[in-house]
Amino acid sequence: MTQQYLEKEEPAEEASLIDQIGKTPLLRLDRIAPKNVGLYAKLELCNPGGSVKDRCALSMVLDAENNGRLKPGISTIVEASSGNTGIGLALISAARGYKLIITIPEKMSIEKKNLLKAYGAEVIATPNVPHSDPESYIEVAKRIAKETPNAVFLDQCNNQANARAHYETGREIYRQMNRKKISALIAGAGTGGTISGTGSELKRLCPGIKIIGVDPEGSVLSGGEDRPYKVEGIGYDFIPKTLWPGVVDEWIRVSDKTAFEFARRLAREEGILAGGSSGAAVYAALQVVQRYTSEKDNVVVILPDTGERYLSTVYNDEWLASNGLL
Ligand code: PMP
Repeated sequence: MTQQYLEKEEPAEEASLIDQIGKTPLLRLDRIAPKNVGLYAKLELCNPGGSVKDRCALSMVLDAENNGRLKPGISTIVEASSGNTGIGLALISAARGYKLIITIPEKMSIEKKNLLKAYGAEVIATPNVPHSDPESYIEVAKRIAKETPNAVFLDQCNNQANARAHYETGREIYRQMNRKKISALIAGAGTGGTISGTGSELKRLCPGIKIIGVDPEGSVLSGGEDRPYKVEGIGYDFIPKTLWPGVVDEWIRVSDKTAFEFARRLAREEGILAGGSSGAAVYAALQVVQRYTSEKDNVVVILPDTGERYLSTVYNDEWLASNGLL
């Protein structure tokens, strides 16, 4: 092998699974976006667990290990998740020797529940009820953590290690843009960790940048009315403590139908198979790029997860039709 090849290789003995979290690609979307403005997508689906939430999971585990709450080989991790944080925790738990119990609302895709089980997590599906209901996934997780010996509830909606994980997401985007101007960042919010950490770091690095949140119709994060919706991973019926005040400059609300339509377009026009929240974010990003006319303006959109976990929903015509979304 030539020296040139040797320098690019990461020696196998130094590469751990957990080290592969983050460092995701940033790609220019050339086909779906107008030519004059740069629209760049941060492909969080390239994380080992297939989503942006690997970063949050790792950060919360390391934080709890550092402050002595979690002990590898002894503790049980308990978390309430729409699936992706659970999957991130599942691969980290397998690698570090934790037992894992995930509560997940019934409405989340069957693929996510099966993935969790495949990694060895215990999965408890809970009814789709408001967060304050004693049977909600959050309340059930709290109860299980109290009743289980050596259990720790990581509590991603209140745990600031979640949002802090994304200072690095912001720095990665800044480095990958290689001194090009970033005029706006578009990201969905569930716990708000991604947009709060990434957005606040980019505000520090790129003064004048606009941080634009994406919220499903039916979520209260952007001030809307609480009602059921289908897109997974974004929106809430309360404001989590990990959605930092003052970071989001503006919200764009997206319907289920639009979110799913744009996820499918992303697959067919760009070859990127992503989830419904990515579709919502791309739709919002395409609204935002229309505001710019200069070639110097660039917009970055975060694509949170892979579409493979929605083959039974977003990418299934019968499911869409039966929900009136085709
Ligand atoms: N999209 C998907 C598919 C998700 O699972 C999540 C996490 N709930 C998000 C977006 C939003 O991420 P955050 O919790 O950091 O706001």
